Amino acid sequence: MRKLYFEDRVTETNIANLFWTGGWDSTFRLLQLLLVERKKVQPYYLIDPDRPSLAMELRTMRDIKIKLFEQHPETREMLLATRFKHIADIEPNAMITENYEKICEKTALGCQYEWLARFAHEQRIQNLELAVGQPDGALYQILVPFVIRSPYSQNTFVLDEKFCGLAVYELFKAFALPLFNLSKMQMKKISQENGYCDLMSLTWFCHQPWKNRPCGVCRPCICTRGEGVGRSFPLASRLRYMFYIRLGMKANFHTLFHSVKKVGYFAGSLKSNKMHFQDIAEITTNG
Ligand SMILES: [Zn+2]
Repeated sequence: MRKLYFEDRVTETNIANLFWTGGWDSTFRLLQLLLVERKKVQPYYLIDPDRPSLAMELRTMRDIKIKLFEQHPETREMLLATRFKHIADIEPNAMITENYEKICEKTALGCQYEWLARFAHEQRIQNLELAVGQPDGALYQILVPFVIRSPYSQNTFVLDEKFCGLAVYELFKAFALPLFNLSKMQMKKISQENGYCDLMSLTWFCHQPWKNRPCGVCRPCICTRGEGVGRSFPLASRLRYMFYIRLGMKANFHTLFHSVKKVGYFAGSLKSNKMHFQDIAEITTNG
């Protein structure tokens, strides 16, 4: 097979560019592209060393790829090696940062969208797929007045060019939103119909993992509990949820939980740091 260089990958229309984290939404889209739409996929991942779930996300993506290649060997050719970039190495872009800050004056928006916009601009990627925008989320409310269905795919939404010049358009113009308007339950149904539920069960969702398990009390953990998509939580996570959320012991339990976590991290710091950097080194070099 002809060797694909980066410029070919981003311009060849048969290849979908997808930001993949190993989470439910982006893994759903990855598997839909590979197994349903039969498209090649170029995944991207931005490394934020301060993200507590970094190591778990890297391990999850590795585990999903191993199982996917076992079950569907043809996807070895279709799923290109993930391209990693450290967030500190993304080119600055004053215009993008200014547009991000303008939006933040009115509403809260995660800083990852500013990195992603600079990354897409730096790499000259058009239609970088972001698996975001479900109807009950904050991002949906920000974007819904500005999006239209893509002329190339009825299930994908893009920013409407008539809003060119506005901060929201300028920040999100490089992105395609294939899951905009799609609920978790609809994704679960599509996964079942197409036989990739077991791969979806490997996905990671917690932002504050505790001993490589979901904490039970961070926002993604709480959302996942309420979505009814069949994810199970270990007993410790369920107890944390009960004390923290159900019994309203938020302040005291939050302090206690994070104090215990700090002690745990301190005690195991050498071992976990070693594993953490080994994960990054192995996974980012092997793709
Ligand atoms: Zn959590």
